[in-house]
Amino acid sequence: MSLIAGIDVGGTKCLGVVLDAQREVTSEHDVLHQVRNPTPRADKLVDALEVLAGQLGDVQSLGVGVPGLITLDGVMRASPNIPGSVDVAVGPELSKRLGRQVNVDNDGNLAALAEWRYGAARGAKNMWMVTLGTGIGGGHVVNGVVQRGVNGFAGEIGHIVVNPDGPRCTCGRKGCWEVYASGRGLRMLAAGEAGESVIARARNGDADAVTVLEAWARWVAIGLSNLTNVSDPDVIVIGGGVSEAADIVMPIVQRWFVETLYSPEQRKHPDLRVAQLGEHAGAIGAALFGAMHA
Ligand SMILES: [Zn+2]
Repeated sequence: MSLIAGIDVGGTKCLGVVLDAQREVTSEHDVLHQVRNPTPRADKLVDALEVLAGQLGDVQSLGVGVPGLITLDGVMRASPNIPGSVDVAVGPELSKRLGRQVNVDNDGNLAALAEWRYGAARGAKNMWMVTLGTGIGGGHVVNGVVQRGVNGFAGEIGHIVVNPDGPRCTCGRKGCWEVYASGRGLRMLAAGEAGESVIARARNGDADAVTVLEAWARWVAIGLSNLTNVSDPDVIVIGGGVSEAADIVMPIVQRWFVETLYSPEQRKHPDLRVAQLGEHAGAIGAALFGAMHA
């Protein structure tokens, strides 16, 4: 058995997994071993990752996913969800301490890689992963290759501006897509009500809640149709907390997607699919990425 490990650094917790490189991973049951630790401040992040790597045991390779702007050599330039994260050399420092090459990429890119390889977008030629969580993360895989851009900063789709006069985003600019179409965006559109509560009311046919959900789904669809214009994908995978209510959310997003697509009658529409690997996608993708570059 050849064991490979991946770590996904989230805003609140770091999830580490160990996989068998020869075995397909179709659900969390195929994860051999997992460890969850709290995410520290940025100045303690490498220490925490060193400890977590030790807890994952003896493995052939290790990859790490980190939110924010990550350079191709694994330096975290900035990460709004991890306090103090400016120019943290996660990849180089961790490689030095562990005495092995550790590859680090953006968490959204790695979740996309996992969903392409083992999840909802298997076999897709050109896929986007869109994670609708507190913010919006994303990743783009073309012919099996994660599109990282020249500096490693590609796929920051949450910060596509959809309204230059809109409310302030965590990135400091105004009217980014995630201001409207993330879980936080749903709460804003619902005047402060939690997304779960809006969805529960919409399920019961509450007209006001349905109106809010329609407005939110329209913002989601506008972003998806923008991605379609940029890259002409065959599959777009929707993940994140919101996808847990896929039964009610996805039909509304799908309807608005057709409504907002450029020239919908003249094209094959990308398939909108719900993510399959859940909260493990980032860590599984990190393991795959580590093994690819070991
Ligand atoms: Zn932004």
